[in-house]
Amino acid sequence: MSQLHDAAERRQSGYEESGSQQSGAGGSRRDFLRRGALGISVAAVGAAHLADNPARAAGDSAAASVTEPARKIPVVAEVDVVVVGGGPGGVPAALAAARAGAKVMLVERYAFLGGHATADLMNCYNGFRNQRPPNETQTVKGIPAEIIAEIHKLGGTSLDVSYAQAKKNLDQGELTYCVGVDPEVVKYVQLKMLVDAGVELLLHSWGAAALREGNRVTGVIVQNKSGRQAIRAKVTVDATGDGDIAADAGADFFQADKAKLLSWSLMLRFANVDKEKLRGMPGILINDSLVVWGPGIGGVDGTDVRDLTRAEVQTRLQIPAHVAGRLKQPGFENAFLVESATNIGVRETRHILGEYFLTGKDIIAGKHFEDVVAIGSNPIPGYREPDGRRRRFFLEHEGYDVPYRCLVPKKIDGLLVSGRCISHDSVAAQSARAMACCMAIGHAAGAAAALAAGDDLVPRKVPVKELQQLLLKQKAELRL
Ligand SMILES: Cc1cc2nc3c(=O)[nH]c(=O)nc-3n(C[C@H](O)[C@H](O)[C@H](O)COP(=O)(O)OP(=O)(O)OC[C@H]3O[C@@H](n4cnc5c(N)ncnc54)[C@H](O)[C@@H]3O)c2cc1C
Repeated sequence: MSQLHDAAERRQSGYEESGSQQSGAGGSRRDFLRRGALGISVAAVGAAHLADNPARAAGDSAAASVTEPARKIPVVAEVDVVVVGGGPGGVPAALAAARAGAKVMLVERYAFLGGHATADLMNCYNGFRNQRPPNETQTVKGIPAEIIAEIHKLGGTSLDVSYAQAKKNLDQGELTYCVGVDPEVVKYVQLKMLVDAGVELLLHSWGAAALREGNRVTGVIVQNKSGRQAIRAKVTVDATGDGDIAADAGADFFQADKAKLLSWSLMLRFANVDKEKLRGMPGILINDSLVVWGPGIGGVDGTDVRDLTRAEVQTRLQIPAHVAGRLKQPGFENAFLVESATNIGVRETRHILGEYFLTGKDIIAGKHFEDVVAIGSNPIPGYREPDGRRRRFFLEHEGYDVPYRCLVPKKIDGLLVSGRCISHDSVAAQSARAMACCMAIGHAAGAAAALAAGDDLVPRKVPVKELQQLLLKQKAELRL
């Protein structure tokens, strides 16, 4: 079972306590969060919860089944492009498509945008350039860089992050390898940019299924408080991170054995920290708060709701113990926990198989492709050596190309994938899942979707040269 975190994350893992805490019951919420008020073994509680019901723990309660009756669903929108998912792979896609003239709707399950950067409190955008030399080329520009610039204008960025990196001048639009952000500013900026671009939003809505005619996706079915609704679209962009819509449409996908995946982390934000004492400590310092990698768990499948539930139960029950450990550290004398992430951070699930399957070998070689639409330059955080040891593998070049074909699922038409569920193996994914690269992929997916919708083409027939010209017009970096 892989328990590996990124290098900076790994330095945090000493806090993944699972032992007993002395009871501090009877205090205020702040006391609870400061002292760690659970007087019981949190690991044991998580295990007992599952052991009570072994069938459920195995996710195997579906011996019986029911048939859902057919029903009529209202069509609530007809658009050129529907983007499902408002994370790094989704927001730039919606912006790019709308700015290219498409009528766009973005569907998001939460009430806010940002994906991992907000919901998972993973508030440092990595991969705008190589983390160490050669890092002269800023490999991600265009709409992603514009989003960071808007966040920066509102004072929502921080370079006080634990990743070593060359200094750059954000005021002049130069982006460092990693930019820390205030998740609240991210939520505002991304919402404002989408509204300004004329993107219609459907929040609180779960993308439940693909709308299909044969092998062609013709939109999406969502479930929300209003019930079940259909959105018709010429092109659907699956930016759910997990490829939910593509998988439902019958696209083939690769998913690594959960025992081999990198572990998940529940991120925590502490306020009222002493910034001077904490400078250089693993985490993301922003204003007077520090976001840290909290309790983690390995061997879990992010497409299995039983595993998702088990992960939340086990890690959340460890929060008081984790907090108690933190508060013994210099710099936390007056600190308190202000929030845990809305959900635990899931690193890797489905990779939808596309017209090209990008591999670890390709990215290590820095391969160039004629149909480049984005560039990745992030290290491979959990690179496995032949002897089984893991290490942070730094690329020795200025970036590798992500070909358009990785966004185009095999066999299924009317659909593009974006963000971390594109067609690549687990090694390539460890690098390309960095949020800067996911945003560049999103930018490309949106531009391609607009071209396909405008010319009534299926995405696989979009002329790549035209797509690249549109991306260059929207200031993307393609090194052409
Ligand atoms: C613990 C951890 C640490 C990480 N550290 C870093 C880091 O330091 N720096 C970095 O750059 N990257 C980091 N990453 C990776 C990065 O956060 C992700 O790879 C990236 O956010 C993926 O972007 P995405 O848009 O594909 O998916 P997501 O960020 O997951 O966004 C998907 C969006 O779709 C929505 N959604 C999902 N399913 C549905 C559905 N069916 N219907 C409607 N909406 C849906 C979600 O709510 C979300 O808003 C980390 C990830 C994890 C888990």
